Amino acid sequence: MNLAALLADLGDVPVITDPAIVRKRSRDFFWYSPILNAQLADKSADLIAAPRTEAEVIRVAGACARHRVPLTVRAGGTGNYGQAVPLEGGVLLDITGLSAIEWMRPGALRVQAGAMLNAVDAAMQPHGWELRMHPSTRRTATVGGFVAGGSGGIGSVTYGGLREPGNIHAARIVTVEPEPRVIELRADAAQKINRAYGTTGIITALEMPLAPAWEWIELVIAFDTFLDAARFGLDAALSDGIVKKLLSPVDAAITPYFGALKSACPPGRAALIAMVAEPSLESFKTLLAGRGTITHEAPADEHGGRVPLYEYTWNHTTLQVLKTDRSVTYLQCLYPHDRLLESVARMNAMFPDEVLPHLEFIRFAGRVTCSALPVVRYTTPERLDEIIALHEAAGVHIANPHVYTLEDGSRYKRVDADQLGLKHEVDPYGLLNPGKMRSYVPAAA
Ligand code: FAD
Repeated sequence: MNLAALLADLGDVPVITDPAIVRKRSRDFFWYSPILNAQLADKSADLIAAPRTEAEVIRVAGACARHRVPLTVRAGGTGNYGQAVPLEGGVLLDITGLSAIEWMRPGALRVQAGAMLNAVDAAMQPHGWELRMHPSTRRTATVGGFVAGGSGGIGSVTYGGLREPGNIHAARIVTVEPEPRVIELRADAAQKINRAYGTTGIITALEMPLAPAWEWIELVIAFDTFLDAARFGLDAALSDGIVKKLLSPVDAAITPYFGALKSACPPGRAALIAMVAEPSLESFKTLLAGRGTITHEAPADEHGGRVPLYEYTWNHTTLQVLKTDRSVTYLQCLYPHDRLLESVARMNAMFPDEVLPHLEFIRFAGRVTCSALPVVRYTTPERLDEIIALHEAAGVHIANPHVYTLEDGSRYKRVDADQLGLKHEVDPYGLLNPGKMRSYVPAAA
């Protein structure tokens, strides 16, 4: 790898070569997994390039192609499976310099890929709009990182995940070739960059749909048992007239780790964390009557500085536990929609005190079901594999968060054929985040 020649070719694109900074930024949140932690802890890029414009992105991409240097895009660095960790060194392309909103109109916006999610929402909300969904890392992650590395989150109870048709309108990408091209992928074609870990092009801009920005009321509700919380969550999720953004049942074994929120979580009782649109609150409370006790109710106040309740949900639930107990890890499950509560009850009974339940209600292909991110008391890799196998045997899909390739992390154990096809078109030398799409064999040398 001729880095001196590459550096000369980068011209005045800002570059960081300090090994301590480069090593630090070559990491993400893979340490949630003891298995990935052992595999990825020593990986590092050789330098960081921080383009400020799409023209500079093109310059970095062209230079990497000409000098055959690997290029891994990094945004907020909040991925959980080493998505942004460069396995083969080379350039870490920090995309956060591209953060402008290009335009907005009612129901849609076009934004540069490195824009922070909370900045986008803060800019849209005065116009009465916000992104349809965001990960629980809204305060630290970017739009492009969410689309390239994430799946869904707060808002998915109404709109489903990013994979649902209509949840990404378009993407603009830069290819990694000696003379890079800029390609616009629209509608279905934009799915080729969704959760591809930046292996199918450098995303420079995204067109995303927007949803009405309601006044969201955050609630914590205590229930006698976890299944009571799940049963109510399902009823609320199925109530299409009640406008909500979040329904997250959490087991009583997890809430003692909830720091500032502990006072709203009575010991021994399960909690359901919810975000409900203010005009729907009365109907929500009517549905709840006699089933659970509201222990916290306040308007969301993220931009005013209070920690948002969604930072106790999705993969933040695991983080809250990890803050005091670094021995735990987690799983990512998808429950069958047609026997949801039976499956939840069955899996909970299978691993008492070992797999601590936490559900997220979502829509998936038009049906209401649950994604689950249970906290796992980790013992050995073999036991973790056994727990995964027992879930799958019971019809609960696992997207394994303890592997770093797209194939192994997918529910189907293979990469999407369209993504593999685009990879051949845009990355002929296999330089984009090498090692993450293992089905891909570069055609060119
Ligand atoms: P990064 O981590 O920097 O990058 C993610 C991937 O996208 C990498 O492969 C990177 O190479 C690629 N990439 C980034 N930008 C571009 C670009 N412009 N072009 C091409 N490729 C690019 N995920 C969810 O889906 N839902 C959640 O609710 C959720 N909660 C989380 C909670 C915690 C506490 C943590 C640590 C993670 C969570 N995640 C969640 C995972 C992660 O936060 C999301 O995937 C997030 O959106 C990643 O954004 P980022 O800007 O940090 O991207």
